[in-house]
Amino acid sequence: MKAYDAIVIGSGAAGLYTALKLPREWRIALLTKENLTLSSSQWAQGGIAAVVEPDDSFRLHYEDTLAAGAGLCEPEAVRVLVEEAPERIRELIALGVEFDRYQGRLAVTLEAAHSRRRILHAADATGRELVRALVEEVRDLGNIRVVEEALAIDLALDGGRCRGVLVDALGVREWYMSPVTVLATGGAGQVFAYTTNPAVATGDGIAMAARAGVALRDLEFVQFHPTALAIDGAPRFLISEAVRGEGGQLVNLAGERFMGRYHPQGELAPRDVVARAIFDQMQSSGATHVLIDLRPIGEATIEQRFPNIAHVCRKFGVDVFSEAVPVAPAAHYWMGGVLTDLDGRTSLPGLFAVGEVASTGVHGANRLASNSLLECLVFAHRIAEAVRSSGISRTAAGIIHFPPAAAQSPVNFELVQRIRNEMPWLVWRTCGIIREADGLRRGLEQLQMWKQQLSGVDATTERATLEVRNLVIAAELLLKSALLRTESRGGHYRSDHPAPDPAWQVHTEIAEGRLFQTPLAVAKIRPTSG
Ligand SMILES: Cc1cc2nc3c(=O)[nH]c(=O)nc-3n(C[C@H](O)[C@H](O)[C@H](O)COP(=O)(O)OP(=O)(O)OC[C@H]3O[C@@H](n4cnc5c(N)ncnc54)[C@H](O)[C@@H]3O)c2cc1C
Repeated sequence: MKAYDAIVIGSGAAGLYTALKLPREWRIALLTKENLTLSSSQWAQGGIAAVVEPDDSFRLHYEDTLAAGAGLCEPEAVRVLVEEAPERIRELIALGVEFDRYQGRLAVTLEAAHSRRRILHAADATGRELVRALVEEVRDLGNIRVVEEALAIDLALDGGRCRGVLVDALGVREWYMSPVTVLATGGAGQVFAYTTNPAVATGDGIAMAARAGVALRDLEFVQFHPTALAIDGAPRFLISEAVRGEGGQLVNLAGERFMGRYHPQGELAPRDVVARAIFDQMQSSGATHVLIDLRPIGEATIEQRFPNIAHVCRKFGVDVFSEAVPVAPAAHYWMGGVLTDLDGRTSLPGLFAVGEVASTGVHGANRLASNSLLECLVFAHRIAEAVRSSGISRTAAGIIHFPPAAAQSPVNFELVQRIRNEMPWLVWRTCGIIREADGLRRGLEQLQMWKQQLSGVDATTERATLEVRNLVIAAELLLKSALLRTESRGGHYRSDHPAPDPAWQVHTEIAEGRLFQTPLAVAKIRPTSG
């Protein structure tokens, strides 16, 4: 058993920033299942939204966020997000994050559904620059112990509290104990056949929380990015929204611009609208993709703003300076997650959640572009402040003894492999961009059968199997939530209920295995100490 003052699970922007913000005199374990630089955060391209220009205002950023969220944002959470953004950006700059500048000032660009230019960026690899600076700082601090290749398996529960987590570090099972455990495990894009997310996005945090009976919210809401590279044999590499912000045009295979037929904002319509429009074009023509033409942006701007996109496209045989790029939608971001209050507290005392795994209420039914890295920073800071002022006893976990983890049990690898291959296609077909009741029911039946077949899997099993178990749990909760919500809103589109229903301006919540509706309200969770 290992004892720490705080354990942070995940090394994306949320986990790194939380670890940096917690008190410097605390001993902190930062666990990550691969390495410090494999995360969605590292892959983020477009940038971070914040009000920094005089023609912009908190009110406008707030209103844009609420509009994208389609009636399900928590206004108080959004207010916190936009008002605390500039201070977090100043901290990043002080830490050495090098955002692009124009004539000495921070350069800002436009992205879909933002009414002002407010996206700070570092070329088209903002995440890489952000993670670089955060990792350097983490490595410099003596109080943070980084444990790579450490898979968090299950939360340690005792006396109604979270006391830490069971971890597999390079094949060795061990309990990491602490009065403060922070889930920062990111999303679950891997439940879908097409995703922009890295392989580590297997919904472990959601599944761990579900097994512990922790409240989850709005799991039906997934954002599909409209423009991921669609070339056989290539990963679904993201062609950033900023490309359209700078003038990139979507055309179908007949060479026609089509977005004007779907939305007055054309290419800059909200993501769900653009994703469905592309999907519609693909379905009506039978094509596997549409095209995005970067040439209207101009060579100089492409070179300066999108060098990485140009490089990756070239690697897969497409020259963005002379031809359009094949693109199709892919699962990108999970708006729902572990229910938290404005200080990252979950319904389980001792457990906090931050970043994509959390549901703070800022994204509602659809995330505004570039608000998610911002959410990681703002709520990481708030967790650290809350912990600092909570009077949590640093030694509280030291007295608990959990049994040593048993030896590994045998599993049917063929079955696990089959589920790993088939499940993402099932979820893509039944709970992708367009959903309907029959498909969701069929999908659920299959998932529940797989869950049953995996019921022999326990915490002693090896990593690939544990991840498949987590994927199946995350997918089941996603489909159940999508079946319950009989309307279309934000990232959730039901062809059998194609319009928003005012009666459904409520959250869905899962707690202790029950799925139900809850009215809009910021979660009120009583702070606990000790
Ligand atoms: C291609 C791409 C581009 C994007 N572009 C932007 C953008 O421009 N702007 C923006 O705001 N957002 C963007 N997003 C979304 C944004 O990057 C993510 O929502 C955000 O980075 C999530 O950060 P996070 O720290 O919560 O999770 P992540 O960055 O995904 O990190 C999760 C971490 O948890 C670890 N982990 C997971 N499970 C376990 C486990 N069981 N045990 C131990 N460790 C575990 C992972 O290994 C990883 O280190 C983009 C996303 C993608 C995929």
